[in-house]
Amino acid sequence: MDERITQDARHFIDSVSRFVKDECMPVEDSIEETGRLPEALVRTMRDMGLFGLRIPSEYGGAGMNLLDYCYVLKELSKSHDAIRAIMSVNNGIGSMAIVNEGTEEQKRHYLPLLASGEYIASFALTEPGAGSDASALTTMAERTEKGWVLNGMKHFITNAPIADIFTVIALTDKEKRAKGGISAFLVDKGSRGLRIGNVHSTMGGKGWLQAEVIFEDCLVPDAGLLGMPGSGFRIAMKTLNEGRLSAAASAIGIGERLLSMGVEYAKLRKQFGKPIAEFEAIQWMLADSATELYAADRMLADTASRFDHGEDIRTHSSMTKLFATEAAFRVADRVLQLHGGMGFMKETKIERLFRDIRAYRIFEGTSEIQRFMIARELLKD
Ligand SMILES: Cc1cc2nc3c(=O)[nH]c(=O)nc-3n(C[C@H](O)[C@H](O)[C@H](O)COP(=O)(O)OP(=O)(O)OC[C@H]3O[C@@H](n4cnc5c(N)ncnc54)[C@H](O)[C@@H]3O)c2cc1C
Repeated sequence: MDERITQDARHFIDSVSRFVKDECMPVEDSIEETGRLPEALVRTMRDMGLFGLRIPSEYGGAGMNLLDYCYVLKELSKSHDAIRAIMSVNNGIGSMAIVNEGTEEQKRHYLPLLASGEYIASFALTEPGAGSDASALTTMAERTEKGWVLNGMKHFITNAPIADIFTVIALTDKEKRAKGGISAFLVDKGSRGLRIGNVHSTMGGKGWLQAEVIFEDCLVPDAGLLGMPGSGFRIAMKTLNEGRLSAAASAIGIGERLLSMGVEYAKLRKQFGKPIAEFEAIQWMLADSATELYAADRMLADTASRFDHGEDIRTHSSMTKLFATEAAFRVADRVLQLHGGMGFMKETKIERLFRDIRAYRIFEGTSEIQRFMIARELLKD
């Protein structure tokens, strides 16, 4: 474990590791079949304080630094992806804009509810016409005497069907767009004119939902504006910088689980009269996987630590997310391959992990967009 991880976090990571083995792994198949998290499990997660790890202690959270949090998340990600997903939005993209930009009133109202897990958060940026180019969004927020009126549609929004509070990024000035014309809003579930549209059917990620979020003359009071008018694009990008490291941490956790499954199977499975672990082709798959996960892990620790020391991690978080998620996908492919036909069968769980890890190269900015941002930084004057 990285030497910079605090002693308290090390103890916590150990207890999360036990929780994963004793309580999460036994219910994985049922989550996959039903698409639902058992209520008792979510209650235990709340009791463990998992929903508020990154929320400052004065608002009911654990106030963990990013490095410690990433390693807790990495451990928890060794269980079913839905378990990681429900807590990571509350700790990351669903609460960080409030932590960083919220008024004292907004913080006092929302953060304790998010930290306890009583409220589930959602972050709504992506639209059908604005994905990688988030600045092309068209959801409009118009200022009126009564507050802001939102019209438009978001899609692919994680947690939307179960969310209590949405951070919504919307256009407030068509001319200025990303240069001061986009603002952030806090919109409560049940607000008039807010509706959840289709829930997307997905290739993986069972138990954590993405859906459309539709705004039809949805009135948001002035108190729902997050940060200054026009600062929404900056708020969204800052939130995603941190979110990218969470994605990297989870991908490494899934990769490590897969690697240990690969090692175990390679020792057990015999062909041509000996364990397949004795074939060089299989050894290389394992060696390459271990090497890539080690490199990704070091990038994660370095970038999270830079963030905790106040550095701008824009480029580092892109590099870490890019490398970790692509590496974890290669690990999944190799481990599936070394399982032969068994890797394709549902009973080994590898096909599920393979499907789940695929989304990590897309959300929080695709691999192509990470490369674009890294290159832009390298090539700037
Ligand atoms: C499981 C999941 C959960 C998600 N959760 C959320 C959420 O909670 N909130 C939210 O707001 N969004 C969420 N998203 C949306 C996600 O952030 C977007 O899907 C992602 O940013 C890509 O946008 P897009 O799907 O529109 O793809 P597009 O932007 O249409 O991209 C299509 C292809 O073109 C490539 N491309 C685009 N532009 C360039 C370029 N300049 N150079 C090179 N290649 C390029 C992309 O890399 C991709 O391969 C989620 C997505 C998924 C899959």
